[in-house]
Amino acid sequence: MSDAIKAAVLERLGRIAGPEGGGDIVSLGLVSDVFVSDGRVAFSITVPADQAREMEPLRQAAESAVKSVPGVEKAMVALTAERKPGSPAPQPAPAAAPQRHSHAPAAPQGQRQGGPAKAGVPGVAHIIAVASGKGGVGKSTTTANIALGMKANGLRVGVLDADIYGPSVPRLFGVSGRPEQVEGRILKPLEAHGIKVMSIGFMVEEDTPMIWRGPMVMSALTQMLREVAWGELDALVVDMPPGTGDAQLTMAQQVPLSGAVIVSTPQDLALIDARKGLNMFRRVDVPVLGIVENMSYFVAPDTGKRYDIFGHGGARAEAERLEIPFLGEVPLDMDIRINSDNGTPIVVADPAGPHAAVYRDIAAKVWSEVSRPLGEVRRAAPAIVFD
Ligand code: ADP
Repeated sequence: MSDAIKAAVLERLGRIAGPEGGGDIVSLGLVSDVFVSDGRVAFSITVPADQAREMEPLRQAAESAVKSVPGVEKAMVALTAERKPGSPAPQPAPAAAPQRHSHAPAAPQGQRQGGPAKAGVPGVAHIIAVASGKGGVGKSTTTANIALGMKANGLRVGVLDADIYGPSVPRLFGVSGRPEQVEGRILKPLEAHGIKVMSIGFMVEEDTPMIWRGPMVMSALTQMLREVAWGELDALVVDMPPGTGDAQLTMAQQVPLSGAVIVSTPQDLALIDARKGLNMFRRVDVPVLGIVENMSYFVAPDTGKRYDIFGHGGARAEAERLEIPFLGEVPLDMDIRINSDNGTPIVVADPAGPHAAVYRDIAAKVWSEVSRPLGEVRRAAPAIVFD
């Protein structure tokens, strides 16, 4: 379905002439990867940096062309300008050894066997990615609830929303507004439910298309990672963009991750995507901490009877096959959705309830995987065989 939409989108864009003539915007190579998820289409068009304003009609033409494709509900088209060589780039903070503190006696982030050492974020013991092979599987909901589960388990936690395609942290945590500048370029993270949060959604106006080319993604991410006063954290949980494209790979490569959690629904197709996610982390030498099966089963609210409507258990079987930890299963439940939409994820909305217990348990497993003592070999993601 999304492949057909993508092809139709490219076909329509192929009828739009480039800004300086010489062909259409697709054949001129000005259109980025086209991202399609749940009827949302997102991409960028590269334009000369000094003409960005004059190019607005081109952007609008592309947007309306895409909106006319059947199946497209929302089109997000951004103009991007590649940075010219020599123009100033944001400077990452100087490399510094991560500061250790008493209850996080863990392996230093970014220093894994066989992997290149990446500069850590001072004060942050572990950076943990939450990823999914495709959109809509509940990755952001899981990120928020795992982070809150860790907080409930006594850890100091931050959440970095790096989902450039659809930042959800403002909605999930019920926070908005611009982060305050504390000193120089350093931003103060916002805070909600006792967690420090930073989102790409705080940095741009709502409804502004947020499509980024690789270098822009990295500078925005670097800023959110290194130019934010995170303070002392045991875990910084990163909500990754869905999928396994170049942007995701670059992020997985550039961020000093201690490990990654993969979220999948039980359906076969979603699991194939999850496998791609596993493979991506393997390529960049980031340990996979385990799989969470989301929307695993459904409990009828009136009778309490459990229905495995999606063939629950697929992710557990897959985890066993791939010899990676299975972190837990989260049911499909109205309360999980409603509370997320209200800015109070279920772990804080109903801390004594069964779902909060599931997430706290997953959070504890993630933490025990990530904080294995130095020297103990953590499983690297296994080779993935597509059959
Ligand atoms: P993703 O980040 O993978 O795109 P989201 O976390 O935004 O997915 O979830 C997509 C939708 O599904 C949201 O409306 C969310 O509230 C809902 N959702 C996620 N997990 C569950 C669940 N276990 N039960 C019910 N609804 C869920």
